[in-house]
Amino acid sequence: MIKFDRYAGGKHYAVTFSYDDGLSDDRRLVEIFDRYGAKCTFNLYSANVDSDKPNCITREEIKELYKNHEIACHAYHHPHLERMTVKDQYDELIRDRETLERYSGRIIRGMAFPFGTYNDDTLTAMKTAGIEYSRTTASTGGLTIPDRFVTWHPTCHHNESERPINQLIYNIEKAPWRAGGLLYIWGHSYEFRQSGVPVDFDEMEKRVARLAEYSYDIWFATNVEIMDYLNAQKSLRYSADGKTYYNPTQIDVWVSNGDEPLCIGAGKTVVIE
Ligand SMILES: [Zn+2]
Repeated sequence: MIKFDRYAGGKHYAVTFSYDDGLSDDRRLVEIFDRYGAKCTFNLYSANVDSDKPNCITREEIKELYKNHEIACHAYHHPHLERMTVKDQYDELIRDRETLERYSGRIIRGMAFPFGTYNDDTLTAMKTAGIEYSRTTASTGGLTIPDRFVTWHPTCHHNESERPINQLIYNIEKAPWRAGGLLYIWGHSYEFRQSGVPVDFDEMEKRVARLAEYSYDIWFATNVEIMDYLNAQKSLRYSADGKTYYNPTQIDVWVSNGDEPLCIGAGKTVVIE
């Protein structure tokens, strides 16, 4: 039997990070992620770039700072989108997307909802603005795969990440029958330097380092890489007898054939004996 419980390279787990608002504390956080090969999506609101606020990042540094990570939208002014007309919501999203694309030279496809709030019109505005997914702030606490990427619920805020990290490592070491899942941690980098927080920069580094010890079974990826991979996995075509699999996408997909990893390469057909 084929099971969809593997990610790139045949690994059983995916881990992703998502950090909002784009303040200068992102610089130290990027250093931590880069030291351990972890991948993050940074959600920026353009009005905060080059602003008069202390600690903002500049448009000139965006390309270099985030070169190993994804840049995504967070609406232009960080408004409560659900209090706006659909037209104004669209303006907030397209203006942010255009600005970040100009600064970064990339195609921007994702977003995090400012304040985590949204309504049905927000989803319409996103679709019109070419934004394919958006992260909420509603933690699942689990290692679940999102049902729908337009309201993508994370596992937890970094302050609550100890238990899910322990769960993931327990699964890798002791519970192979639970294999397969996504750990998704979000937050703001400026929170790490606030006094009295449970997770400061040093503690965050410890947690990332601990996960990196298990990189033989963890795929570190940005939000959009995970969405593209899961969509490719869903696009597999298979015969009625469950023996022939065809991957029509441009992304290699990994599955379990029994307990063994099996790669169904991009554009390839695989027949199971
Ligand atoms: Zn925010």
